[in-house]
Amino acid sequence: ENNPNYSSKSIITIPVVVHVVWKNSIQNISDAQILSQIDVLNKDFRKLNIDTINTPTIWKTISSDCEIEFCMATIDPNGNATTGITRTQTTVNSFGMNNDPVKSTSTGGANPWPSDDYLNIWVCKLDNLLGYSTVPSGWNDPGDGVVIGFNYFGTIGTVQSPYNKGRTATHEIGHWLNLDHVWGSGWSSCGSDQVNDTPIQEEENYSCPGFPHNPNSCGTTNANGDMFMNYMDYTNDACMNLFTTGQKTRMISAINLYRSNLSQTICSLPTNIIDISIRNKKLIKIVDVLGKIIFQPKTNTPLFYIYDNGSVERKIILE
Ligand code: ZN
Ligand code: CA
Repeated sequence: ENNPNYSSKSIITIPVVVHVVWKNSIQNISDAQILSQIDVLNKDFRKLNIDTINTPTIWKTISSDCEIEFCMATIDPNGNATTGITRTQTTVNSFGMNNDPVKSTSTGGANPWPSDDYLNIWVCKLDNLLGYSTVPSGWNDPGDGVVIGFNYFGTIGTVQSPYNKGRTATHEIGHWLNLDHVWGSGWSSCGSDQVNDTPIQEEENYSCPGFPHNPNSCGTTNANGDMFMNYMDYTNDACMNLFTTGQKTRMISAINLYRSNLSQTICSLPTNIIDISIRNKKLIKIVDVLGKIIFQPKTNTPLFYIYDNGSVERKIILE
């Protein structure tokens, strides 16, 4: 018998690695600033953002908990403990989109981690744009991931108004999960974003329009006008507050189609991957739950023993 009061959710958790590529120290943003961005993502993709109250009443019912979460990777591609943050000093003044220079050490950037296990986010100084993203059909391309300007990432530190609430990354990860702009893939064209519950919109919006904005545009009878507060428009961070149910469906489909092996197990050191079939593995190091190397194992404390074959064992020495 189903209990109508009980609803189960299946949350998809996406492991993230943030590659900070910096020339001067101000671009080398703090761990706290990075975590402030992850916090925004976990609010926006779960409809836990407090500004959801600003969504116009007419669209509140389709404002969606996308059931997608993000976590900083705690295991790197070699099986070692990590904070999920890499830091690379560069001689490049600023990076552009063409040929993705920030995504390779050979051009002054940082190499990605395997894109079938991690969402790669590069943070650097960008030329004349807030950020950019690849699309899901490029899952296996080495450049898969998103790039965000260091002054538009997170909510503290180097962020600059009006792009200081972390919505550049929310928007770009929307693209990374197959969303188009709400006005479609062209410009000023009343195009379609292939999502039914977002109204047709003539073109992008900037700043912070009042509601309703552009009613009956594109020859429609839509008195509510543009959904300019959708994360997939170009309005100010403080004016964005929703993904729709249709956008959620499209993102989940993209994950299922292209990204079915994404796993949250590389976000927390697992307790059950001891590989007893491998002999002669050599202990590399022992770390605590914060990733700090431990030289003298403590008792009654969970510690992680990391071996040269990539395996990790969680042990507690009981006193
Ligand atoms: Zn965009
Ligand atoms: Ca639409």
